Amino acid sequence: MLIAGKWVEKEEVIEVCNPQDNSLISTVPAASEEDMLLTIEGAKEGAKVAASMPVHQRMNILNKAAAYIEENLGEYAATIALEGSKTIREATAEVKRCIQTLRISAEEARRINGETIPFDQAEGSEDRIGYYYRFPIGIVAAITPFNDPLNLVAHKVGPAIASGNAIIVKPATVTPLSALLLAEAFEKAGLPSKVLSVITGKGSVIGDLLVTHPAIRMVSFTGGLETGEEIARKAGLKKISMELGSNSPVIVLNDADIEKAVESTVSGAFYAVGQNCLGVQRIYIEEESYETFSSLFVNRVQQYQVGDKMLNTTDMGPMISETEAIRVERWVDEAVAMGARRLTGGKREGAFYPPTVLTDVPPDCTIARQEIFGPVVLLYPVADLDTAIEQSNDVNYGLQAGIFTSNIDKAFEAIGKMDVGGIMINDSSDYRIDGMPFGGVKGSGLGREGVKFTVQEMTEPKVVSFKLAQKRSV
Ligand code: NAD
Repeated sequence: MLIAGKWVEKEEVIEVCNPQDNSLISTVPAASEEDMLLTIEGAKEGAKVAASMPVHQRMNILNKAAAYIEENLGEYAATIALEGSKTIREATAEVKRCIQTLRISAEEARRINGETIPFDQAEGSEDRIGYYYRFPIGIVAAITPFNDPLNLVAHKVGPAIASGNAIIVKPATVTPLSALLLAEAFEKAGLPSKVLSVITGKGSVIGDLLVTHPAIRMVSFTGGLETGEEIARKAGLKKISMELGSNSPVIVLNDADIEKAVESTVSGAFYAVGQNCLGVQRIYIEEESYETFSSLFVNRVQQYQVGDKMLNTTDMGPMISETEAIRVERWVDEAVAMGARRLTGGKREGAFYPPTVLTDVPPDCTIARQEIFGPVVLLYPVADLDTAIEQSNDVNYGLQAGIFTSNIDKAFEAIGKMDVGGIMINDSSDYRIDGMPFGGVKGSGLGREGVKFTVQEMTEPKVVSFKLAQKRSV
């Protein structure tokens, strides 16, 4: 791990295994609370260095790190695919997005602007002139999940460096290697030491200290609702950004291009084995189109190639662990026992769970209300758009949604009425680029990511007022 400017090894380690066959890929140090304290002390110095770096230097470092990753794309993609559950195709796409995230961060560094303030709007302030500018908040703690082990880390590290902050990353315990490779890219790019640390260890051992330490000014968390709520309760007086889960809805109306809707939602449901915060979980289809949609959908799912992640021909690999696959199996079995019908699916084998489509799912079973975070999608026929919107909103999540329609008025009705942070017209809920604001409502979180918006969250305005000797001349 990279802490307080040094690469550190320890006797006590955590094994990083390939979920496909449980083979050992590598080990990383199991950090202790002392290691965390050392990291935070180092970051205090790092924060001073980071804040004093001129913008052109920050841009140069971000662009160099992006170029390094581009040159070594194969190694980065293989690491994501090996330690996580993405296929090599999905992992390669993630590396390309990470490069974009860093390049956008470099661009945003030059746009951290302030404004002049017309103080003379207040009576008695005619002799004041001033402005505000944005200053870095200091040290950011980044806690990240397993499902995008490189790009979701870059989404915090890029903006932190662009805005002149130090950052301590605690990557997911099961997928730390991609985050360590990101740190290597920044070291090669000449980032001064102690600006970025990547500390590996269990959230339950080192998490509390990181989250509660008074020197940490912001906790930027991406992960599950339960962990997010616990962290938010503990963090105290600091900024928090919470990118949490969802069970995203997509609405398909009779006037939609049904074939395109099928292609897009199958991909949106099973990307990364459904372990995607934006993944399509619930599809509401207007009754008249239901039969056509569901038979095309099931047909497409049955063509999915499930198997070895490292093959270019594979569409879907294993889940992140057998434990997770067992949880999904349990939720599906519960739904079926309560009356749901399985249109396609099959048996679990170790960490592999087949792409599964359910219908007639009773509203009170777990899978209908919670985030599946696995390769299962629920189809619902609905009478009309109003019913689809009402059912879409009737959960404790609201990250993104999709609607397929060729009627602009209906699209606008959904835009206005759906409780989500983003709505995609004629696209699946999982459409995202790295330059857009991204985040949710309700149990899906607080604050927005997307480089420009993260930069705002990682900086604060400082007001400057000059009192002149006389009323200012225009
Ligand atoms: P998780 O909540 O189990 O873990 C996330 C991180 O929190 C890990 O690094 C973990 O080690 C750490 N952690 C756990 N307990 C902690 C504690 N007490 N203190 C500090 N840190 C602690 O999530 P996961 O299983 O890795 O990821 C899946 C979840 O992430 C899903 O719910 C998914 O929807 C969500 N997610 C959200 C987004 C988004 O941008 N909204 C993106 C990807 C994933």
